Amino acid sequence: MNRGASKWAVTGWHHLSFERPEDWTIGAVTGDFASGYLRLDDTEMPRFELRWERTRGREPVDQVVTRYLKNLSGKGGKNAPPVKVRRDLGLIKDETVLADRTVEGFHWRTEGRDPLQAYGCLWMCEICGRTVFAQVLGRGGESIMNPAARLLNTLDDHARGDTATWAVYGLKFDLPSDCTLKKHSFLTGQIELTFERDGARLEVVRTSLAEMHLENRTFAEWFQDTHGNEIDNWSDDNSPIYGHPGIRGTGEGVDPETVHSRMAWLPWRRPRKKPLSCCGWHCIDGNRLYVLRHMDETHQPDFLDEIAATVVCH
Ligand SMILES: [Zn+2]
Ligand SMILES: [Zn+2]
Repeated sequence: MNRGASKWAVTGWHHLSFERPEDWTIGAVTGDFASGYLRLDDTEMPRFELRWERTRGREPVDQVVTRYLKNLSGKGGKNAPPVKVRRDLGLIKDETVLADRTVEGFHWRTEGRDPLQAYGCLWMCEICGRTVFAQVLGRGGESIMNPAARLLNTLDDHARGDTATWAVYGLKFDLPSDCTLKKHSFLTGQIELTFERDGARLEVVRTSLAEMHLENRTFAEWFQDTHGNEIDNWSDDNSPIYGHPGIRGTGEGVDPETVHSRMAWLPWRRPRKKPLSCCGWHCIDGNRLYVLRHMDETHQPDFLDEIAATVVCH
């Protein structure tokens, strides 16, 4: 793994954030803020694993490491190659980081025909109350120490200040740290993230292959065709969003929480509408369409504009 020349990018997920080589992409993701798992793969193999969970009890960090590593070596069953483990490695250098965390660094390698190795660490954060297990994987003969150290030293596990960065598949934006991710969908042509905050709902949707979706329409025409039915007032403000002309409107959107697929005909089952603000733009550089929708009783179109202003789209 020669990572000297390759580009690095940020991943941000449930307030965990870190830098990683740009060509490591999400291979698996499950869970929520309290506990979850994220794996990044390159074209060959898994490269990075991240697990987090609420810290329970007062189990000392070295015992938790033992538990995790035991689980690791037990996974392959009877014929698993033996795992050689080195512990107590000082992989995290930053003193200010170490002040909030009890960290243990480790390295393991398997023996046998196709050996694997990993540098990783486990820590307990006193501020967000989570236990974080992270490891960078490589083949036996690879020198992965440097990229592993770089990644692990950039790994942070809670929001600093009032906002948290969300960054996946090259889509990056900041949200108030009390926004929680309700659901996500990562499809080849479309990424969709839905957040909640005090009963308000925020959707961030990025659609690839913009030209194909536009079908010779201008972005304004496409936006009108796709979202016009829920917009009552179009804004005159077309000020740019990350360099692209933005479109903004307000209206009423159907609250998906009140939509029932069965018995929809019953009058009391009628979906409820909520004030909606919506904005969008066409990222010509990345050939993508961006749409942000915010449904909120208190109706704050400015909030959406503040979020849109943080989006890095190309
Ligand atoms: Zn934390
Ligand atoms: Zn752009």
